[in-house]
Amino acid sequence: MTESMNLDERRAALEAIAQEIRGCPRCPLSTGRTNAVPGTGRPDADIMFIGEAPGYHEDQQGLPFVGASGQYLTELLAKIGLSRSDVYITNVVKCRPPGNRDPLPAEIDTCVPLYLQRQIAIIQPKIIATLGRFSMALFFDKNARISKIHGQPRRADGRIYYPIFHPAAVLRNPNLRPAMEEDFKRMLTLIKELEAAAQPVDEEPPKPRQLSLF
Ligand code: URA
Repeated sequence: MTESMNLDERRAALEAIAQEIRGCPRCPLSTGRTNAVPGTGRPDADIMFIGEAPGYHEDQQGLPFVGASGQYLTELLAKIGLSRSDVYITNVVKCRPPGNRDPLPAEIDTCVPLYLQRQIAIIQPKIIATLGRFSMALFFDKNARISKIHGQPRRADGRIYYPIFHPAAVLRNPNLRPAMEEDFKRMLTLIKELEAAAQPVDEEPPKPRQLSLF
């Protein structure tokens, strides 16, 4: 059903979900929010970035990744020739946890099926890039360590799941910068791989028909 949605239909479906998110009363995070943060970007993006949870600036503006880590994410995208409007950016949970604490399992379990899974079903991204361990835990082994598996794509369900560090972790630990930049560059290779797979295979030219003399 979603595969046949055109761009406007996807945009409208995402906006309907965003409205639900803005009015969502389903977990205690809703009581502390200034603004919910549904997500932003192309409704048919090939790459979807999933962070952890809105922070102070995101809660103030209702937009994901607009603080310091967002600025860094924007820079990393620019280094590989992409802008925020080329991709879709969202979070595991859509409301800011108090004092930027980690989202609790109950909050994640409530929010993800209600909103993130439906956003993924509409956008149908070819690459899901997880930013940090909470997002990674949704798509990779629960015991996986980000320091071990970052930058290693996993192919499943016809798409690529791609774990990378959270930009905030890299800002806190500048030693991670080269690895983060490498992981972003590798995303270009993944995109090329997907484009090549999408190319129609050249058919052999039809053999000339033998003309019958009679
Ligand atoms: N960190 C996140 O995980 N998400 C945001 O939107 C901002 C900071």
